[in-house]
Amino acid sequence: MEEKLDEKNSKYIVEYDRTNCIGADMCTFVDPENFKMNEDGKADLVKGEDKGDGQFVRFTNENMEDMGSPLRRAADSCPAAVIRITEIATGRRVAGAPERK
Ligand code: SF4
Repeated sequence: MEEKLDEKNSKYIVEYDRTNCIGADMCTFVDPENFKMNEDGKADLVKGEDKGDGQFVRFTNENMEDMGSPLRRAADSCPAAVIRITEIATGRRVAGAPERK
């Protein structure tokens, strides 16, 4: 069985603020494997864990330093900056909007 990824055994966390998705459809265009358009006009993060209040997370060990990574491209292309990728060990924001203060 595949090991469940969490903050202890993953390198990166992908955070998706679905509440503030404006349905621009860029993520689903550049990364159709991980983002699917929903009937309500917002994108869904595939295998995203629902944290409540429209916030979703997913843990990954895929190389997010690679600009060509689909998830990274989705985060970089979202005009609403609602997809963020952070390196867990350092807290460094790899892609998406800067840390909110
Ligand atoms: S690119 Fe951003 S705003 Fe557009 S559908 Fe995807 S998450 Fe929503």
